[in-house]
Amino acid sequence: MGGLKEILKKHNLKYTENRKVILEQFLSTNYALSYNEIDSLIEKKIDKVTVYRTLKSFEENGIVHQVVDGSNQIKYALCHHESCSSDQHYDTHIHFKCIECDKTYCLNDIRPPKLKLPKGYSMDQQNVFIQGLCNYCN
Ligand SMILES: [Zn+2]
Ligand SMILES: [Zn+2]
Ligand SMILES: [Zn+2]
Repeated sequence: MGGLKEILKKHNLKYTENRKVILEQFLSTNYALSYNEIDSLIEKKIDKVTVYRTLKSFEENGIVHQVVDGSNQIKYALCHHESCSSDQHYDTHIHFKCIECDKTYCLNDIRPPKLKLPKGYSMDQQNVFIQGLCNYCN
């Protein structure tokens, strides 16, 4: 487990206090976070634009990936794939949304089924999420 500085460095991001605070939040949370959740979880007050910029730079540099779970907020979760980088993300796994606690988890080892698309269609992204009860609420 590398420190925060190493994680940022590995992903070509300079260490800043705000990046540290937001990354720490991701490291200590096991579900996907929206802007509102980050804002309410972190103790330090960071302005909205900075939080959004930080999330964008984390995503662009392979630290977090977007989680599509049918809610109207963009959520992000920590990448567990070593090779995620500014070039590409490898987070092709299923997301699980709990209808009880309303949290969305990465099921990192569960991959979505390969689909055969009709002629003329090509896939760019595949976002699969399942709804149900998580192992805390079950
Ligand atoms: Zn990733
Ligand atoms: Zn739950
Ligand atoms: Zn995920």
